[in-house]
Amino acid sequence: TNSTALLPNLILAVAKTIETNADDLTALDQAIGDGDHVTNLQRGIQALAAQSEALSQLDWQAALQKIGMAVMSSVGGASGSLYGTLFMAMGKNLQNRPLTIAVFAEVFMKAVEAVKQRGKAERGEKTMLDVLIPVAELLLQNADQPEVLEQVKQTAIAGADATQNMLATKGRASFLGERSRGYIDAGAKSSQLMICAIVDVLT
Ligand code: ADP
Ligand code: MG
Ligand code: MG
Repeated sequence: TNSTALLPNLILAVAKTIETNADDLTALDQAIGDGDHVTNLQRGIQALAAQSEALSQLDWQAALQKIGMAVMSSVGGASGSLYGTLFMAMGKNLQNRPLTIAVFAEVFMKAVEAVKQRGKAERGEKTMLDVLIPVAELLLQNADQPEVLEQVKQTAIAGADATQNMLATKGRASFLGERSRGYIDAGAKSSQLMICAIVDVLT
């Protein structure tokens, strides 16, 4: 099924992967940021967990918009407005269509474009976009292939890993200049973890 009845399980899976990887993720944001990325995310996850049953009664468009607003108002930090934008733009672009993989691919790409605009960032700047953009491209190009979800995981992991040697030119890590190299970006890592957790629920 691809109904919103999946949402409680998806939220639980995201909560679990952030909890399991909390120490590693915090260490990354401490190394080249301010160390709050996990606590920021956990505020959002708690807000979503508290309304997960209500969300599962909505259609995807309404649920995604509600998730976006909850993330926007609870997470805080750079990642709050960017992840909030991602979900709100997914809801807005879905426009009551049934959520097939092909429709999701189109909607996700548009949402990633909205994140790029919001953060004034492109691929290669050592941010969550280094995971979100390649995943969006993969989905658009391979939406009709049965193994696409498995490829999504590999692409997300490769995207996060590739940020390690990048120079940060957006966000707090950019204040460090050349010293931002050598660490995976925390937002790229959290995007990868959440995407992999969601794919695991769906496959
Ligand atoms: P803050 O940096 O405000 O403390 P978080 O720690 O929650 O917020 O999130 C930091 C993450 O947000 C970074 O690791 C990066 O992935 C992402 N990020 C920051 N600025 C931008 C931007 N302009 N565009 C895209 N992503 C960004
Ligand atoms: Mg931070
Ligand atoms: Mg902060």
